[in-house]
Amino acid sequence: MPEGHTIHRLARDQRADLAGRALHVSSAQARSEATAAVLDGHVLRRTEAWGKHLFLTFDSREVLHVHLGLIGKWFRRLPDEVDGALPAPTATTRLRLEPADPSAGDETLAWDLIGPMLARAISPAEKRVVTAKLGPDPLRKDADPDRTWARLQRSDKPVGLLLMEQDVVAGIGNVYRSELLNIVGVDPRRAGRAVERDEFDRLWAETVRQLRLGVRRNRIVTMDADELPRPLSKLRRGEGRFVYKQDRCGRCGTELDIYPLAGRTTWSCPHCQPR
Ligand SMILES: [Zn+2]
Repeated sequence: MPEGHTIHRLARDQRADLAGRALHVSSAQARSEATAAVLDGHVLRRTEAWGKHLFLTFDSREVLHVHLGLIGKWFRRLPDEVDGALPAPTATTRLRLEPADPSAGDETLAWDLIGPMLARAISPAEKRVVTAKLGPDPLRKDADPDRTWARLQRSDKPVGLLLMEQDVVAGIGNVYRSELLNIVGVDPRRAGRAVERDEFDRLWAETVRQLRLGVRRNRIVTMDADELPRPLSKLRRGEGRFVYKQDRCGRCGTELDIYPLAGRTTWSCPHCQPR
């Protein structure tokens, strides 16, 4: 599942391509025709991520709310080099967003949404209902880490489980939780209430830093440039991480503990993250 950095990167890329323009919104699927019709022709004003949720706000005040879920993806389509035409939507294209007015200098491109868990047009009030249920998103300027800290302090659940709960902190998934807890030296099985304030402060700061790095790199590579086994562009799949899907700790070389937590496999280092 895409983690928060992916959604923030999409918000940024779609802002650059689409914001301030009237959009042609279409769907190849009957179930989304009504959604497309509501948004079609309106000017996109704002693109915004909150955790794993993407919100595109139009001048009509309608908001396109998208959650990619496990398999959803956005694809940026560019015209064919020979005939200059965009690839046609397929039966799986839930929504296509494209600048509507080439005479206004709009570039020929489209963003296609395929296989999302959720794609619907909602009102600003409905959007507030969605975001009220989400925890702070470390990449947002309005994020208040004390809300996450308070949830940890009230809970006997393992911190590795709490970090995956989107109402505790929004945007962290299975890769980041393993990586972040390794980097700050906290065992994922430790109870939330047993996390010390200085450990939490380091965890939050590292979460912000790593998610920003993820937005910039457009992938989850948690090692700094000087720690990578080879240049970023040449990394093989799964390289550049300290523990996620590794056999040995990328920091100290110790064999990792591997176990399920919140129904998903977790990796931690018995040396760097003592119980
Ligand atoms: Zn280690």
